[in-house]
Amino acid sequence: MLDKIKNSNKIEVLNNSEVTEVRGNGTVNGIGVETKGSTNSLAVQGVFVEIGSIPTVDFLPSGVALNKHNKIIIDKRNMTSVPGIFSAGDVTDILEKQTVVAAGEGAKAAIQVAEYLNKTEV
Ligand SMILES: Cc1cc2nc3c(=O)[nH]c(=O)nc-3n(C[C@H](O)[C@H](O)[C@H](O)COP(=O)(O)OP(=O)(O)OC[C@H]3O[C@@H](n4cnc5c(N)ncnc54)[C@H](O)[C@@H]3O)c2cc1C
Repeated sequence: MLDKIKNSNKIEVLNNSEVTEVRGNGTVNGIGVETKGSTNSLAVQGVFVEIGSIPTVDFLPSGVALNKHNKIIIDKRNMTSVPGIFSAGDVTDILEKQTVVAAGEGAKAAIQVAEYLNKTEV
């Protein structure tokens, strides 16, 4: 993908840069881009925000097992390596990262949490 981007004459890559401003009145017509301390204006007609894909797992107890990509390992009941801790969606080691799958996984996890609570004496 990076090679495709580098070789495309339709894309200009700005490394070490940060978008500091989105300008427009009703519709976008420009952005401010800061590169190594100096800010430049670019005329643009659209802005698309691409978020990262690093899983947020710092808050988990250390016993919850992660795979080498820092995704939470779950079994078919959506339970993690720690009994009673369940997980669902993109943060887990499932292969399909899609909204419909994440929603279904959430439903599966909720059902399994209820099962777990019903079976477990607290
Ligand atoms: C650029 C892009 C395009 C995509 N396009 C498509 C598409 O066209 N079709 C499709 O089906 N899927 C698409 N996806 C994938 C889809 O967005 C995900 O599969 C889906 O959003 C996963 O849902 P989720 O609830 O598991 O995770 P998320 O949607 O990532 O939700 C997790 C939430 O938890 C919050 N959070 C994180 N840490 C904490 C914390 N410690 N405490 C409280 N909250 C926390 C986050 O802020 C976030 O709101 C795309 C993803 C990306 C990044």
